[in-house]
Amino acid sequence: MKLRIHQFIPFTRVEGPGARVCIQVQGCPIHCPGCAVPFTWSTKGGYEITVSELAERIMAGPKVEGITFLGGEPFEQAAGLAELGGILKEAGLSVMTFSGYLLEDILAANRQDWNELLRVTDLLVDGPFRKDLRDLSRPWVGSSNQRYHFLTERYVDLKDRLGNIPNRLEVTLKPDGRVFTNGMATIEDLEGLLNELIK
Ligand code: SF4
Repeated sequence: MKLRIHQFIPFTRVEGPGARVCIQVQGCPIHCPGCAVPFTWSTKGGYEITVSELAERIMAGPKVEGITFLGGEPFEQAAGLAELGGILKEAGLSVMTFSGYLLEDILAANRQDWNELLRVTDLLVDGPFRKDLRDLSRPWVGSSNQRYHFLTERYVDLKDRLGNIPNRLEVTLKPDGRVFTNGMATIEDLEGLLNELIK
């Protein structure tokens, strides 16, 4: 099975608990006003890669405790992500999934592919980004309507500690001079950081 992804991040510490590999999928029909990643909306962007190739790259890559699926909209490619998540869970990794859809709506749809992605997900963050509710005080999320659902026991211990986990930005400087960022930061913080980097 193939996935259309925007970005494969082999190692990050800002997209969920601990060290993780992250897959940013390509394609999102939700179109939240103020979305920070509108370049992931089109289903024609990004590139295709098979689930088995991704699984091999992850197994051969840096040691991580889990994988994070974000977007784009992961539930638009639920079957492939569920397959990949299942392979990685067999290997002992955890799965965190972001969605712009609400858990209630995902459950009510009762789609097999959506149910399978839920089944392999340990921690679900749901809800669309709302710029009128913008709030970076909680880890990994950008607005106060977004909710954490602990679907398995894997991260239940974090429930009462979320307030102690900061939202962080990760900056990667490539050998060719290109700068990549992921995670959450205000535009002001990001501008300040980039100004420091180019001094
Ligand atoms: S669901 Fe996520 S990727 Fe899609 S428009 Fe909203 S913030 Fe952007």
